[in-house]
Amino acid sequence: MKNIEERINKLIEIINKASYEYYVLDNPTITDQEYDDAYNELLMLEEKYPELKREDSPTLRVGGEAIDSFKKVTHASPMLSFDDIFNEEEIILFDERIKKTISKPEYTLEPKMDGLSGSLIYENGVLVRAATRGDGITGEDITINVKTIKSVPLHLTKDINIEVRGEIYMSKLSFERANRDRVANNEKEFANPRNAAAGSVRQLDSKITAKRDLDFMAYFLPNPEDFGIKTQEESIKFLKELGFVTNISLNGLAKNSTDIINYVKELNKKRPELPYAIDGVVIKVDSLEDEKVLGFTARVPRWGIAYKFPAEQVLTKLNEIKYTVGRTGKITPNAIFNPVHVDGSLVSKATLHNFDYIVDKDIRVGDIISIRKAGDVIPEVVEVKLDRRDENSTPTKMITTCPICETELIKKDANHFCPNENCPARHTEGLTHFVERDAMYIEGFGERIVEDFYNEGYLRKIEDFYNLYKYKDDLMTLEGFGEKSITNLLEGVENSKKNSLERLIYALGIRYVGKKTAKVLAMYFGTMDKFMNADYELLKNIPDVGDIIAKSIVDYFNEERNKELISNLKELGLNMEYLGEKIDTSNENINGKTFVITGTLSNSRDVYKEKLESLGAKVTGSVTKKTDYVLVGENPGSKYDKAVELGIKIINEEEYNDLIK
Ligand SMILES: [Zn+2]
Repeated sequence: MKNIEERINKLIEIINKASYEYYVLDNPTITDQEYDDAYNELLMLEEKYPELKREDSPTLRVGGEAIDSFKKVTHASPMLSFDDIFNEEEIILFDERIKKTISKPEYTLEPKMDGLSGSLIYENGVLVRAATRGDGITGEDITINVKTIKSVPLHLTKDINIEVRGEIYMSKLSFERANRDRVANNEKEFANPRNAAAGSVRQLDSKITAKRDLDFMAYFLPNPEDFGIKTQEESIKFLKELGFVTNISLNGLAKNSTDIINYVKELNKKRPELPYAIDGVVIKVDSLEDEKVLGFTARVPRWGIAYKFPAEQVLTKLNEIKYTVGRTGKITPNAIFNPVHVDGSLVSKATLHNFDYIVDKDIRVGDIISIRKAGDVIPEVVEVKLDRRDENSTPTKMITTCPICETELIKKDANHFCPNENCPARHTEGLTHFVERDAMYIEGFGERIVEDFYNEGYLRKIEDFYNLYKYKDDLMTLEGFGEKSITNLLEGVENSKKNSLERLIYALGIRYVGKKTAKVLAMYFGTMDKFMNADYELLKNIPDVGDIIAKSIVDYFNEERNKELISNLKELGLNMEYLGEKIDTSNENINGKTFVITGTLSNSRDVYKEKLESLGAKVTGSVTKKTDYVLVGENPGSKYDKAVELGIKIINEEEYNDLIK
């Protein structure tokens, strides 16, 4: 046993050293094969001897069991942010202001990462807690997710107690890959790397976080004096020594505003080549002694400021102006151009708002245009490069009829509208919902294809999906489609007929009936017939349903058209039954009761959750007065304390087994 423990320690040492060389020094001394061998041997030993698994083991990076919610944590000292400035004059003013107090200041200049800040706490060199910034005072405990970030050392090079702050971010490469995956899965793309990083680090299932491939850049020590550090520059060097990735090679030093402005310009030039997105420069007084003298305002430190780059503008060629019809009938022109990277995301489409906008800027197809991201998300056309315009180009003419139903358009203020109440464009949203991943999940179908088929007239109502096969030859000739893609789509449509009832219920888009409620309803009723004939009273009393949803369901099935839809779908061969385990309501100890599960039990929590739900119980994530039972395993957390406090009945696994009998 002793030998095995030693071997495990040795393997972790090899792996940590390799990671440090790879991520921090950018200079690996072992091959990928040697790394994989060490990793696999460690994994094998941990599986065989789970009691020897270390809490800082690099194998934790793949993620662990999913959690119910994030615990709140209070930061030892507030996580502050800096005031933003946007131009050179403000840089000069900042320098002047500092010089009123400090006669000869030095500044450290650091790229401002476009991610989210986080705090990492190490005890005896081992990572014990990671938290988001939150509101600066209180954040969320994201330890389990941060452990999956490969550039976060799980064990420092020194066995010290320390808090380290820095940026959790997603590289440009990982960002593109994440978005490619999302498109392939019919999911909405992330708007920018920051949203992607924030969304990934707040996953309840750390295995998802692990796949997103986040990174961490350390840049701040809240307690530098504990380590004899006197400047911000020394802090960064110390962080690097401890095993963190830092921006040390990009950081700069300055003595005055001219130096700062030069650095800002240089860094802005390097931006496109950097592997990650940055949105400015953080300027800090370097000496910690001087920082103390300058102190804080009520909100922010006086010794630092964040300069933000102007939004990036990129040139591209306008290929087409495409008009879309919204749910209100409003017509929006869109610029479709050669794809370009703007501020870290790949864009190929920008809104032109309305026809007046096109006229004002005299935008024409074939023009070279300059694109910028407005706010964080929507790209817009800034200007047309008139000197590069083709001499034969002609001004853009506004369309006069609806691109979908050909009704004559009307103009109200700056906008054009399709006045046709029955314009099919107003219904595409419902069709897109029907095929979504959580709904019928018709593989390959997404918003774009739904719209294309719609505009071509093949898809106007839900039933049409199941008649598409009749037009296979025609569909194959549409632009952007071929035999293979159409065959796959039709196969997806055919396969969706076998879906279990909960998918169909959710896909119908009944107001307030989300994915979870759809599952509850499908389990409860078992068949579409029973569900659509259920009355308000019955629906209202099902756990997770309640008054509002019950009313909405009754209203939905009171519509003649909706009854017709169900009967058509039945005829088209769609499955109308729930295929999973049905709810057995005969056990009165369990049916209708609310449970919370905490601590380590002999099976994964999902096992208990599924069993309880199959007996008509509701399983929730937090203990409240409405909780009936708390099922407690080994090492229960705060939920146990809460249950004691509220006097909720606490049961162990044995008592649980008796209850479900
Ligand atoms: Zn129309």
